[in-house]
Amino acid sequence: MKALSLRRIPGPRTAYLAAGTSVLLATAISWAAFGPRKLADAVMIYLLGIVLVSLRLGYGPSLLAAVLSVLCFDFFFIPPLYTFAIHDLSHVATFAVMCLVALVISGLTERVRAQADAAEQREQRTAALYALSRELAAAKRLEDIAEIAARHLFDALGLHSGLLVPTSDHSKLSLLLAPKGDPVGDPPEEFVAQWVWDHERPAGLGSDVFSSSSKSYLPLLASRGRVAVLSVRADQPVRLQIPENREYLAAFANQIASAIERTDLAFEAQRAQLRMETEQMRSSLLSSVSHDLRTPLAVVTGAASSLLEDEIDTDTRRELTETILQEAQRLNRLVRNLLDMTRLEAGAVHVNKEWLPLEEVVGAALNRVEDALAGRQVVTDLPADLPLVPVDAVLIQQLLLNLLENALKYTPAESPLEVRARTRPGGVEVVVADRGPGIPPGDEPRIFDKFYRIGGVRAGGVGLGLAICKGIVSAHGGQIFVMNRPGGGAEFHIYLPVDGEPLAPEAPDPIQEM
Ligand code: ADP
Repeated sequence: MKALSLRRIPGPRTAYLAAGTSVLLATAISWAAFGPRKLADAVMIYLLGIVLVSLRLGYGPSLLAAVLSVLCFDFFFIPPLYTFAIHDLSHVATFAVMCLVALVISGLTERVRAQADAAEQREQRTAALYALSRELAAAKRLEDIAEIAARHLFDALGLHSGLLVPTSDHSKLSLLLAPKGDPVGDPPEEFVAQWVWDHERPAGLGSDVFSSSSKSYLPLLASRGRVAVLSVRADQPVRLQIPENREYLAAFANQIASAIERTDLAFEAQRAQLRMETEQMRSSLLSSVSHDLRTPLAVVTGAASSLLEDEIDTDTRRELTETILQEAQRLNRLVRNLLDMTRLEAGAVHVNKEWLPLEEVVGAALNRVEDALAGRQVVTDLPADLPLVPVDAVLIQQLLLNLLENALKYTPAESPLEVRARTRPGGVEVVVADRGPGIPPGDEPRIFDKFYRIGGVRAGGVGLGLAICKGIVSAHGGQIFVMNRPGGGAEFHIYLPVDGEPLAPEAPDPIQEM
């Protein structure tokens, strides 16, 4: 059986009307069922009516029901009938019992109802707090936290709120983060807010300090200490003075404080990670650069001092001079790479695009490595119908040069190289392929990182060549990646976008021609 609902019928008018109607109903039922003079039965029906009214309609209506029941009972059932006169005084006791029942039951139900209301409100508030914490858990920035907090505080308590966060040295409050359109806009009472920050105690409206303020300020305290100050304002200031509301507000403040602390910690962790990476990069740069600079310098110094000795034959002299030349070239390459990378990183490289045929750029790059090729077979496959590409000739030559130099460095002396190009949707693809050892699986994306060299491979450079290639391709809006070839070897794919049309040659200016 469904339990009797204790929910109050809305509106006092309806409640009183319902009480009156229930008495009329009780009279009609008693009259129809038992007729006059069946006093005990009629009393039962009236009492039932009073109990029902008390359960559903609260104090006032149940008292009205009791008084009306007494009057109707007296009028319709107690002799002499149809008058309010009472001859038998024992009926007064019945009247008193009817009123007492009404009072006791409505008192009891009022208490139960108040408890139910409180439980429901608690449940609603717990749900609101849960919703707040769930949204806050996903927030990554202080601004998001302020916005989420403001929305939930308004929905749950009708409060307008803002966040005051400290300056980086945590001594002063600096900034009011109030979501757009929030009428918190009037200048914050900085002094009160600062007091709250310094003393870590609530102040303003509803507290015992600065209570004449129009807003209430709460310190947001997390496990590692204060993180911000929450300012709240209510359209009806009395809301901020109700103890239950303040408790609820304090619970909100705790959630917001934890969320802010979490973002602070995440930020710190990110900074520490960045510091660590920078540190690692710096030490790997130092060790590579110092090793790569010192080795050729030591060789050059050794060869040069040998040259200074008198009794060396022409062949040795020639050998030493060649060594000096090779090592100087190596140094030159290294310094060039370092400079290129610095310029690329600083965004100082200006991409000077021109519409050029690819074979011109590839040809120029191959020319530059001609000596190093030392008779190696280079297969070029550049279809005649390739479109012109908008590229910076110097940069793309540099890119191809780095790839070709790598191919020469990391593959066996007699293995062939291949340069091919194809038209692709929206651009062209250039491939530089070799028949060397290829790239160990898993290392493919990483070889484009700065200072990344594959372990166990004879040191070639500082690990900047491919990082520069990537920088150049990105500066052209393209992409570069590496794949291992089916028959062995590595294959570097460069995709370069071809946007728009090359400009038609300008028509001669008739005025100048004259
Ligand atoms: P490095 O200055 O050391 O040559 P790169 O950035 O040019 O630096 O190359 C990174 C690493 O990728 C190299 O250390 C090398 O091990 C590997 N690598 C580059 N090109 C090839 C290739 N064609 N075949 C095999 N390994 C290569």
